[in-house]
Amino acid sequence: MSNKPSVIIAGGGIGGLVAALCLIERGIEVAIYEQAAELKELGAGVQLSANGTRVLIHLGLGEAMAHAACTPVAKEVRLFNTGQTWKLFDLGEVSVARFGAPYWLMHRGDLHRILLDAVRARQPDCVVTSARATGFVQTADDITLHLDGGRTIRGDVLVGADGVHSAVRQTIFGQTPAKFLGIAAWRGVVPMERLPAHLARPVGTNWVGAGGHVVTYPIHESRLLNFVGAIERENWPVESWTEAGTHAEALADFEGWHEDVRTIVREMDVPYKWALLGRDPLPRYHEGRAVIIGDAAHPTLPFMAQGANMAIEDGMVLARCLEADSNVAAALARFSALRVGRTTRLVNAATDNAHRFHNPTLADPAEGAAYVAREWTEEKISARYDWVFQYDPITTPL
Ligand SMILES: Cc1cc2nc3c(=O)[nH]c(=O)nc-3n(C[C@H](O)[C@H](O)[C@H](O)COP(=O)(O)OP(=O)(O)OC[C@H]3O[C@@H](n4cnc5c(N)ncnc54)[C@H](O)[C@@H]3O)c2cc1C
Repeated sequence: MSNKPSVIIAGGGIGGLVAALCLIERGIEVAIYEQAAELKELGAGVQLSANGTRVLIHLGLGEAMAHAACTPVAKEVRLFNTGQTWKLFDLGEVSVARFGAPYWLMHRGDLHRILLDAVRARQPDCVVTSARATGFVQTADDITLHLDGGRTIRGDVLVGADGVHSAVRQTIFGQTPAKFLGIAAWRGVVPMERLPAHLARPVGTNWVGAGGHVVTYPIHESRLLNFVGAIERENWPVESWTEAGTHAEALADFEGWHEDVRTIVREMDVPYKWALLGRDPLPRYHEGRAVIIGDAAHPTLPFMAQGANMAIEDGMVLARCLEADSNVAAALARFSALRVGRTTRLVNAATDNAHRFHNPTLADPAEGAAYVAREWTEEKISARYDWVFQYDPITTPL
């Protein structure tokens, strides 16, 4: 009889799929239960940094990812009203040279498809769709996942990779609704051919302004420009946390912003609006045979571009802990101890970036320019990001 555990994963997003790949790589039996009838991701972008891309390369996905990803030739900061521009570093070459792995800008659909294809190639029946987790019960010997409709699944370990509204988290920690973080985000993509030449470039741009910021970057073989525009809001109906809005509404939110931003907003295919949700940090991510990863464990403002990267890191560290220790509860406790500090630091760094990117000083062009010059020096950028990109989930000591 094998002494390897059988693992049930609730949720087939980025975190669940990467965890499955890392477990399969170690010969551990795994099954994913995903609520959606069909697995797909919203058409928008995601940035993957060296701490995440080194895992994907290790899993044998480097070629497929490099083909689908864009590497920015430059990164700029621009002031929201005057458009004044500061050229920063080139993340492409520099990321490989300094951190040993690339920085990739991806269409989320491309990333999700590559991960799903890889899981199905290794284990064709791994993903079960239309299977919504509602909770679990555990004993000293096993754990049972409950699915909508009354079905139950028994295993040795349950991984909650079921996102910010996680049912697994709720069963462990009780019902605590996700909090609206006071920031709404507009998201969408623009076909590059609709943009003037000076905006249709393989460049990542961070527009910073008083009370809001905008991030744009190329995805999908540079055929699309991805747009995320965050605006501070007093209130936002949380139940409509992801929905299509109108161009007029989005333009009203970017009143007074530079014409380049307004041009991109006008040309977006569908402007989606999101309420950015969070939760108070948790002291641990496990209970007995159950563990949570990704947004289920540590939802974050997306302002370090690390939510998906953290989910990828989680998958690798979790698989290594389960491989290293046949005592499941001890392995999950080790995972939790290894991950709480780093992920909490990253969530806090993203909140710090909200204050930085939305600083009231930015309202005045001269003071705003001085603020950018001060806050985006090479040394300060290095202090903010090097520790993030240097982390290696494949070799970090357990
Ligand atoms: C505007 C914005 C921009 C972002 N940009 C970046 C970026 O550039 N870089 C980055 O690293 N991160 C970014 N993120 C964060 C990133 O998208 C998330 O952190 C990441 O998707 C988390 O992955 P996950 O697998 O934990 O959760 P999810 O992607 O939410 O996946 C959860 C999965 O579980 C399923 N599910 C939910 N409930 C159940 C249930 N009860 N039973 C079964 N299945 C269930 C869902 O259908 C889904 O498939 C951004 C987020 C936002 C909002």
